[in-house]
Amino acid sequence: MASLSLEHVTKVYPNGFEAVKDFNLEIQDKEFIIFVGPSGCGKSTTLRMIAGLEDISSGTLKIGDRVVNDVEPKDRDIAMVFQNYALYPHMTVYDNMAFGLKLRKVPKAEIDKMVREAAKILDLEKLLDRKPKALSGGQRQRVAMGRAIVRNPKVFLMDEPLSNLDAKLRVQMRTEIAKLHQRLGTTIIYVTHDQTEAMTLGTRIVVMKDGVVQQVDTPQNLYDKP
Ligand code: ADP
Ligand code: ADP
Repeated sequence: MASLSLEHVTKVYPNGFEAVKDFNLEIQDKEFIIFVGPSGCGKSTTLRMIAGLEDISSGTLKIGDRVVNDVEPKDRDIAMVFQNYALYPHMTVYDNMAFGLKLRKVPKAEIDKMVREAAKILDLEKLLDRKPKALSGGQRQRVAMGRAIVRNPKVFLMDEPLSNLDAKLRVQMRTEIAKLHQRLGTTIIYVTHDQTEAMTLGTRIVVMKDGVVQQVDTPQNLYDKP
């Protein structure tokens, strides 16, 4: 089943700049889609349109079979993990993970169950009372993912989630993300500059340039050819 589709999606910023041009892609359930391409080619803009953080100028965006062009971010059944984690510094790990659920008025007992489940998956159970400043980089990144997981979204969006981590941790977190994808059986769209991440994580890779999709293919076909 299609989990997400973009049909003739374009983005023209208010200053007239066309950042994304006629983007077409159908993503199936459980795919791990990678966006690659030079800085400024429109990767983040596309992700932000899917998240609902930017309006779509024209075209159609569907999540499942529902058109979501005009649906608010919080009602889109997606979750986004940013590269700078965007954790609330004054809140504990628990409260950081619970925040989005509280906003959605989920009952307290249910929030507690969801947070503890996510903490178990991400090995954060012993850190629930910590504030972000008392965590390592890898732990912070896991909290950011925990915040996304608790919502049990249909689609995960990750914008260079590992780019602020050192090399060793990046390799470790890459493996964790692969496991997470397996375990949750969810669709992931992932922006990266790192070819190793693209090759090891992606089921398909979307190559963008100047706001245009140049190629969509499997890692094998893209990188193994001479
Ligand atoms: P990427 O994520 O691939 O680096 P972006 O999607 O962030 O690229 O940006 C795509 C293009 O759109 C860039 O040329 C960028 O300068 C431009 N852009 C991004 N945001 C705005 C904005 N708010 N107004 C005008 N142009 C923008
Ligand atoms: P890792 O190698 O797992 O990325 P670190 O080497 O930074 O983490 O930290 C090792 C352990 O010390 C971790 O279990 C972490 O919980 C704990 N720790 C790190 N920073 C702090 C801190 N500021 N306060 C309390 N505990 C910390």
